[in-house]
Amino acid sequence: MEQVHLTGLTEAGLREFVKSMGEPDYRARQIFAALHRRRLRSFDEMTDLPKELRARLAARATASTLAVESRYISEDGTRRYLLKTHDNLPVETVFIPEERRDTICFSSQSGCPLQCSFCLTAKLGLLRTLTAGEIVEQIIVALNDAYGEGARTPRGTNLVAMGAGEPFLAFDSLMQALRIMAAEDGLHIVPNRVTVSTAGIVPRIRELANVPDRPHLAISLAAPTDELRDELMPINKKWPLRELLAACKEFEKSLRPGERFTFEYVLLDGVNDSDEHARQLANLLNRHQLRTKVNLIPHNPGDPLPYRPSPPERVESFQRILESKGVHAFVRRPRGRDIYAACGQLSARRATANNPSPALVHQLTR
Ligand code: SF4
Repeated sequence: MEQVHLTGLTEAGLREFVKSMGEPDYRARQIFAALHRRRLRSFDEMTDLPKELRARLAARATASTLAVESRYISEDGTRRYLLKTHDNLPVETVFIPEERRDTICFSSQSGCPLQCSFCLTAKLGLLRTLTAGEIVEQIIVALNDAYGEGARTPRGTNLVAMGAGEPFLAFDSLMQALRIMAAEDGLHIVPNRVTVSTAGIVPRIRELANVPDRPHLAISLAAPTDELRDELMPINKKWPLRELLAACKEFEKSLRPGERFTFEYVLLDGVNDSDEHARQLANLLNRHQLRTKVNLIPHNPGDPLPYRPSPPERVESFQRILESKGVHAFVRRPRGRDIYAACGQLSARRATANNPSPALVHQLTR
């Protein structure tokens, strides 16, 4: 019999599960708090449960399925975890400490089926879509490592679904994971603290707009014209810019006061970063009258990708042109580049002789 991964169940789901074992409701509450508030990863540690019940649980279910294979720590404090699923597939998670809040960037798939030409993850292809439990567990692993098992987090936690995979191709797992993580007696990370980034799966943008308690949306754009976007993000051939921006316009109706959604624009030297591209981008967004902002992301280089990051003066000029045309643009500071933790760099890389700064590489010993 396949074991049930309890971390992927809501408290209601856990109630059903304990009922099937002939146990009262309050056991579900206890187990939910143990998994999510106390962030315990094995039944053995749940010493408030009778020993006999722990043994029965272990026979039918599991509290954790991801194994930590390696951990890398950047000189800027960013931590990258290379995890393994029970069926031996790589999962990557990045913890980014920030002054006011920490951010955890999680993966929704192992590998990715979309073939964005500037992204190392694409080289893996799709290995598998992750389950809700595997998504939640990534957060638990990162928080336990950063602060100690079950320890209170000193700052709040923001989540971004910007790791490996296209989150909208893992929609059901993602939504279930968000419900679980929002629970007050668990991790208590509400959807308002979560940003989901898509390459442009148009039907799901529309669907997300109708989710009552939904996360924020970011869209990876990378090009202001269909011709260039077809090349950089082949998903554009299925849903070209016209359809994508029409869906964005509809999504805009669901924005809360003060909320904006974001376009991510990776800047590739000599490819999509000219003044003309900036003007085209501003015109495109203005034409659709979108209440949005643009995050400019200097490309994070990685073999065997054929791109270089735009030089700083290019980035500045691009930003200036957007601003001069009334489009709010911000430049994102790359984090964890030295440990292959930055955007577009997640490709299950292990520490090797070619991976620079070996002193920054910390193999996890526990
Ligand atoms: S950028 Fe995102 S959607 Fe595109 S291949 Fe990489 S992981 Fe997939």
